[in-house]
Amino acid sequence: MTGIAERPSTARRTFLAAHLTSRQRASLRNHLTGDLEKTRLLIEQLGADMESFTASRRDAATDDEHDPEGPTLAFELSQSSAILAQSIQHLADIDAALYRMDEGTYGLCKTCGGPIALGRLQVRPQAPLCINCAGRLR
Ligand SMILES: [Zn+2]
Repeated sequence: MTGIAERPSTARRTFLAAHLTSRQRASLRNHLTGDLEKTRLLIEQLGADMESFTASRRDAATDDEHDPEGPTLAFELSQSSAILAQSIQHLADIDAALYRMDEGTYGLCKTCGGPIALGRLQVRPQAPLCINCAGRLR
């Protein structure tokens, strides 16, 4: 990751402690690790699905033009790969949030350094930005 200059100051750590209780942080961590596990399983499942799609397409290759399932499989494959890409991104976001938790910067906006509201973290515990900064990106 980045150098020492990016580490949070002691003042920020104190600020963080004031804005999330250790109980709230523990509950958010549970949420994140549960989601991490679910997302990992989903990625595994999608990977297996896509393999079997590809395998059944290969089997049908000898009679391509008469295969009524051809377009459906292609559609499902593209859907699965879109969901897979999203899930991999989601997993990376969760991983980054857990890293920030270990580092002591969790719950602080990566852009402005301000606290991310508890309500927002409860809905999106992996959120790296406060609502204002996230809104400015749109
Ligand atoms: Zn912000």
